[in-house]
Amino acid sequence: MRRAILAANWKMYKTTGEAEDFVARFLPHVARADDVDVVLAPPFTALDRVGRRLAGSPVALAAQNVSPEAEGAFTGEVAPRMLADLGCRYAIVGHSERRALFGDTDARVARKAAALFAAGIRPIVCVGETLEQREAGRTLEVLGSQLAGSLAQVPAERAAELVLAYEPVWAIGTGRTATPELAQQAHAFLRVRLAERFGAAAERIRIQYGGSVKPDNVSALMAQPDIDGALVGGASLDPEAFARIVHFRTGGKSA
Ligand code: PEP
Repeated sequence: MRRAILAANWKMYKTTGEAEDFVARFLPHVARADDVDVVLAPPFTALDRVGRRLAGSPVALAAQNVSPEAEGAFTGEVAPRMLADLGCRYAIVGHSERRALFGDTDARVARKAAALFAAGIRPIVCVGETLEQREAGRTLEVLGSQLAGSLAQVPAERAAELVLAYEPVWAIGTGRTATPELAQQAHAFLRVRLAERFGAAAERIRIQYGGSVKPDNVSALMAQPDIDGALVGGASLDPEAFARIVHFRTGGKSA
């Protein structure tokens, strides 16, 4: 049985004050230890303040990106060890916005994931096809190739710690969610490929769905056998909405 993992990707939203306000309003909803993992990924500038507020809570801190390098003359970059120092337990790599806007290739994502493992941080590795690729019938080919390339350097003995996020690009920030059945097909395919690569550990790897997840569609998605969590953008900016997503099992109620 895989433990569900719900992660908030705030992208380039929220100042430190806004981030602290979110945490103050969100934490009462997750006060008791639940049977899910909850993760917040604020922008770099708010990691320290959010991390301090989350100390002692069941909510984990994550970064949205990382440098593949350990240290050095890389202006503007942030090293894995610096994230570990701030208490990050996860980091998102290979998000489609980074792939499309900042040139992150599978090979670079693979290096980032390896660097995170070396620093004791669990990577959340994103893969997903564009609308054009889906309409050309290339979805599985694209996912297979992104998966193989992005996970090329994952140490086999650490594979179970990996989190994979299936995020169809056409569903991100568009309000257009993949149907649960369509998402399940992609997740099942990814699990087969994970099994080919990592053997039995594939059954322990959590695969999140991402793409316009909202309080009113999360339960149907989570009911699918290979959907183990959600990576949430827009709806995670509001503490009450994200709390309802976290409590998907009880129809959004925290008690
Ligand atoms: C994301 O940024 O990973 C995402 C899925 O965004 P949204 O929920 O807004 O579609």
